[in-house]
Amino acid sequence: MQKKKNLLGYSLDSLEKFFIEIDESKFRAKQIFKWVHQKGILDFDLMTDLNKDLREKLKKIATLNPPIIEEEFISDEGTKKYLIKISSGSMVEMVIIPDGKRKTLCISSQAGCALQCSFCATGAQGFDQNLESDEIIGQLWLANFKCNQEDKITNVVFMGMGEPLLNFNAVIEAAKVMKDQLAYALSRKRITISSSGIVPNINRLNEHVDVSLAISLHASDNKLRDKLVPINKKYPLESLIESCKYFLEFHNNKRHITIEYILIKNINDSLEHAKKLVRLLSEFPCKINLIPFNSFEGSNYERPSSEKINRFKFFLKEKGFITTLRTTRGDGVDAACGQLVGNLSKSIKGKKLISHRSL
Ligand code: SAH
Ligand code: SF4
Repeated sequence: MQKKKNLLGYSLDSLEKFFIEIDESKFRAKQIFKWVHQKGILDFDLMTDLNKDLREKLKKIATLNPPIIEEEFISDEGTKKYLIKISSGSMVEMVIIPDGKRKTLCISSQAGCALQCSFCATGAQGFDQNLESDEIIGQLWLANFKCNQEDKITNVVFMGMGEPLLNFNAVIEAAKVMKDQLAYALSRKRITISSSGIVPNINRLNEHVDVSLAISLHASDNKLRDKLVPINKKYPLESLIESCKYFLEFHNNKRHITIEYILIKNINDSLEHAKKLVRLLSEFPCKINLIPFNSFEGSNYERPSSEKINRFKFFLKEKGFITTLRTTRGDGVDAACGQLVGNLSKSIKGKKLISHRSL
């Protein structure tokens, strides 16, 4: 028997093609799309505008299956972190970060990551597998319809586990669903793909979907970046900066890119480093997001003092860059990428499990 298709991960275009292929009219796609992504309904039998024959037919060939929430952790500041089990049995993480009216969902695109950045807990775990598009959009579905029923998610960032631009097709398909007016209707400003710098895929991103881009830079010379972000050996800074410019030219230079820069004690946190960063970034419009290093077991790096962090930030601001400092909210639930799954394999020592719901 053929494997049932999981329609949860289909963009509207793909869903229309699916209905045409099964000799049904393509407007069915819009009906299903709204049930699933606007109302949170996954049971074909509850979709009252589909006739009974069609419902029976769909049940035989298709499913609507989100991934499973295994554990929920809540920090004192309201950040919630979830361990999500995907179909292979691997675990990934998603985090909900409330901030006033904004509710940001941080999602994973891969289980593990092959790129082995030296400061990253996900990288330390190695690569397991790509998530399917249903497992990616499924995280937003879960956040809206299972975790968070009163306020819907307002922003999505691909800053959980994995390198989104190495799972290109599934990420694009999921981003299309996020943007669709008949689904989550998130504008391009509210969806951010964060990449460590997969140059060829940055260059073709705009042809596929219009979203915001963040680049995990972390160093302004190749020697240091090779160490922190080893993919830099394949796509060095010069080519990465070119691809950022190309991305912005596509939008007639009316946009900016967010530059993420982790601050690690005595590695990339001096004023010399800040000066180099200013020189490198003066070539295109960007905002800088400084992220104090979040330590995890097994890592030798440390977070700089608040004084040093603030000095770095002040310097960038003085030079005219819009610079934000990621607050350490979420520390209580190990909100940095990959840390919870890393801990899970060490049996989640010392974690405060506030609630454990079976969803
Ligand atoms: N692979 C993508 C997206 C996932 S990582 C990327 O690298 O951009 C998302 C963000 O978390 C990146 O900016 C990454 O640098 C940051 N990050 C990873 N480990 C961290 C740590 N230990 N402390 C603080 N930020 C971390
Ligand atoms: Fe992968 Fe991003 Fe972690 Fe680097 S920082 S190992 S690219 S998830």
